[in-house]
Amino acid sequence: MTSEAFDLFVIGAGSGGVRAARMAAQRGARVAVADDKPLGGTCVNLGCIPKKLYSFAAHYAEAFEEAHGYGWSASTPVLDWAQLKANRAREISRLNGIYESLLDGAGVQVLRGRARVVGPGEVEIAGQRIRARHILVATGGHPVVPPVSGAELAITSNEIFDLPTFPQHLLVVGGGYIACEFASIFRGLGAQVTQLYRGTQVLRGFDADISAFVADEMRKKGIDLRTGSDVEGIARDAATGRLRVALRDGSVQLADQVLYATGRVPNTRGLGLAEAGVALAPNGAVLVDDQYATNVAGLHAVGDVIDRIHLTPVALAEAMALVDHLFGAKQRAVDYAMIPTAVFTHPSVGAVGLTEAQARAQGRAVRIFRSEFKALKHTLSGNTERTLMKLVVDADTDRVVGLHMVGADAGETIQGFAVALKAGATKAVFDATIGIHPTAAEEFVTMREPVA
Ligand code: FAD
Ligand code: NDP
Repeated sequence: MTSEAFDLFVIGAGSGGVRAARMAAQRGARVAVADDKPLGGTCVNLGCIPKKLYSFAAHYAEAFEEAHGYGWSASTPVLDWAQLKANRAREISRLNGIYESLLDGAGVQVLRGRARVVGPGEVEIAGQRIRARHILVATGGHPVVPPVSGAELAITSNEIFDLPTFPQHLLVVGGGYIACEFASIFRGLGAQVTQLYRGTQVLRGFDADISAFVADEMRKKGIDLRTGSDVEGIARDAATGRLRVALRDGSVQLADQVLYATGRVPNTRGLGLAEAGVALAPNGAVLVDDQYATNVAGLHAVGDVIDRIHLTPVALAEAMALVDHLFGAKQRAVDYAMIPTAVFTHPSVGAVGLTEAQARAQGRAVRIFRSEFKALKHTLSGNTERTLMKLVVDADTDRVVGLHMVGADAGETIQGFAVALKAGATKAVFDATIGIHPTAAEEFVTMREPVA
């Protein structure tokens, strides 16, 4: 048997893979990481970062409008889509370079190409077989488009960042994070946007008040958001070159692009996992225990490929727990409770902890506090956007078990409150906390009368 070239071979240089590779190398392990795409994975190249940059771009359109209320006047601004794409691409290339130097600096060997597992402790990349004591599968996921007729004419979030021409009319299918974020972004950038969601309310899983409120705000900004609506088929109109989208209700919608944002599935096809005896879920997700170990010794997995919570900070936390376990002294499990999250819609959504429905379903007696208002900024801006804040309090323990918001920079606000909820803060602690005036966030510590 050949000796092991590496202590850890990581397949996939995305959020989880890069973090695991760097941390293991810093602990003295011999580490390699393989990827055939630009370093940084989905978040850096096709997810969080470019998405947030485009969201900033979209917010400027509103800011130019709002400035009039503050005495500014200027000619109508025009978006240069090519310039935005080029600037985004330059920034992402800079980040790719930073990832490369971080890995180099930590002594990680970066191998370019697709890797696959060829047996316990053995991977193959570019025709070469390499042995490693541990293999980490951190291959992420990819978007899925349901098999409607003409699906090949649709795009996914992978293609949307680099569309050659700005879509004057974008039709978005789905009601989750990606659908709602891109509907907001492209509306803000100036497109006409139709969003179709098959269910009754978008952002399923979020607090019902929050989903309903953000849906109304999105409509106020001009998104034609239709619930109980889905696509029958897509065809290209020969005369105009536009897309003709036949809907289940028999109507037809014309669009320049159709974005499918209907979920993502784990990247495990062709990885050799099933052949190596690794147990997989029906959708291909790698099944792991609390220490991210598969049923095959020495084979581990973290991040989107295990299909638990698809968020970058969660992939990072899983990677760090695994490295602590394999190359450190500690064995610890990631605590999946109270994970804060934000949806970068316009206005944005932020949440941590239980929804009202979840708290009630757990049999808790709850007190609900809610505040809805127009942010101070919009008293002069002319923007009709409103903010909603909601607290879910366990009536028996007085603990704040859920905190939810729709409003500007919700993620920034929720991040701080997440620490308080994680620490077990009670409503009495919230009440004893002095607010910062004038802010929107101070509402969270000044709500006194329960509404339910
Ligand atoms: P990834 O980052 O996907 O990395 C997997 C890597 O594995 C890729 O680089 C891929 O090329 C590589 N790979 C796959 N197969 C192989 C192979 N056989 N050989 C070698 N390499 C391989 N999360 C947030 O927290 N906040 C956000 O705002 C946010 N926005 C998002 C927006 C969009 C549009 C999308 C799609 C996702 C967003 N996410 C966001 C989710 C976040 O991007 C993922 O949860 C995160 O990237 C998962 O990290 P990962 O390491 O598991 O996988
Ligand atoms: P989501 O699971 O969030 O949403 C998928 C949406 O598509 C749901 O509304 C779902 O409807 C709908 N859908 C599923 N299948 C079909 C179908 N066959 N026909 C019509 N509609 C369908 O997935 P996304 O792709 O939006 O995002 C993937 C994950 O990436 C997210 O869950 C999130 O964890 C992560 N992400 C995080 C972001 C952030 O942190 N800001 C931003 C973007 C992504 P239904 O509700 O009925 O199931």
